[in-house]
Amino acid sequence: MHTQKIAILGDGITAKAVREKLNQLHIQETTVDAADLIVTSPGIPPHQYPNVSCEIISEIEFAYRLFKETDTPPTLIGITGTNGKSTVTALLAHVLDCPLAGNIGVPLITYVGILKKGAPIALELSSYQLEQCSTFYPHIAIFLNLTEDHIERHKTMHAYAEAKAKIFHNQTASDYLIYNQDEVNLKPLISTSLSQQVPYSLQDPDAALLNNLPIPGPHNQSNALSVLKAARLLGLSDTKILSKMQTFKGLEHRIEYIADLFFCPVYNDSKATNPDSTLKAVNAFYDPIHLIICGYDKGLELEAFIRQLHEKVKSITVFGAITARFISVSKKISPHFPLYKADTITDSLLQISQHTQKKDIILFSPACSSFDQFNNYEHRGQEFKKTVLALSQKHRRN
Ligand code: ADP
Repeated sequence: MHTQKIAILGDGITAKAVREKLNQLHIQETTVDAADLIVTSPGIPPHQYPNVSCEIISEIEFAYRLFKETDTPPTLIGITGTNGKSTVTALLAHVLDCPLAGNIGVPLITYVGILKKGAPIALELSSYQLEQCSTFYPHIAIFLNLTEDHIERHKTMHAYAEAKAKIFHNQTASDYLIYNQDEVNLKPLISTSLSQQVPYSLQDPDAALLNNLPIPGPHNQSNALSVLKAARLLGLSDTKILSKMQTFKGLEHRIEYIADLFFCPVYNDSKATNPDSTLKAVNAFYDPIHLIICGYDKGLELEAFIRQLHEKVKSITVFGAITARFISVSKKISPHFPLYKADTITDSLLQISQHTQKKDIILFSPACSSFDQFNNYEHRGQEFKKTVLALSQKHRRN
């Protein structure tokens, strides 16, 4: 590969990391026209690729090829799914005491040449990254779930599923595919895998070992089960795995407790950018929930989602681009369901304060992406947290 002429697409953290590695390896970057290999970044959709005859690969595929050229390839544990990837990646890295990389914010290529042979690395993989992989495979793949998302990029659910399935397509009989057996649509997809299948399920007797985790909800119990299976394959004892899990703090913006406001605990779940993740957050609580939905309308199917919300939550407040369609679908299903329209985060919290009772849950789990009003889900979560803390201080003073 050192003899290839390599061009890089993108200008974000992935492209920067690829550029740095090329420099370290004394490989000169070239232009797209002169290249015989192009390394792309996950944010660039295939329709924006230049019209060239050479191969275009993701940074993950490129890092993988570079790892293979070294004498010390690490043990890759790849994690994919529609929801829960970052949580599982971070929990696995915490349990194994190993680095994490990929879609969680640290490009894999950063670790080329600096890991010991066989050292584990927890690697979060998005469909965007997997789409442009051809020879890549992890020794252990974890496939969490598959629900509708990112259709604007992949066009069809089939194409989205195919991109995700690349996590195990090149695996061999000495590799492992850990998958969630409770997700019925995963089974047909993984039927073509050649690796050793390791199913997990909340019906599994092992689930009872994970009843008291610091991260709430059955979905997190399921996430932890996948980590338990992976850590066991890597030789860790159950005692060690379970004690490590007890000290996991959870990630920011995922069902994150912020403060009490109007005598109600408030949670920030800004990372919930699709309906399934919001349903999981809603099902993580026993007390009545006042839910805040907001964001960009990705054109997702709303009816089944809103029906389930009506059964589970006490009220819904909605703002942002999704508002009109959400209200119209909700009204059709149940015209009298307590539904409120707001303009901003502050407005939604103040409206909710009119109808809460002590100990009700206030849950910000938007179900939509953030870029109608915010830069990204982190920005949206930070704004929400700032507002909650300011209001709770003001409320305490009054
Ligand atoms: P991802 O990296 O796949 O986006 P995260 O761990 O960041 O996943 O979580 C994203 C959202 O999905 C959060 O709102 C979280 O509460 C929810 N979530 C976490 N695990 C699961 C799961 N197994 N199934 C569905 N939703 C989940």
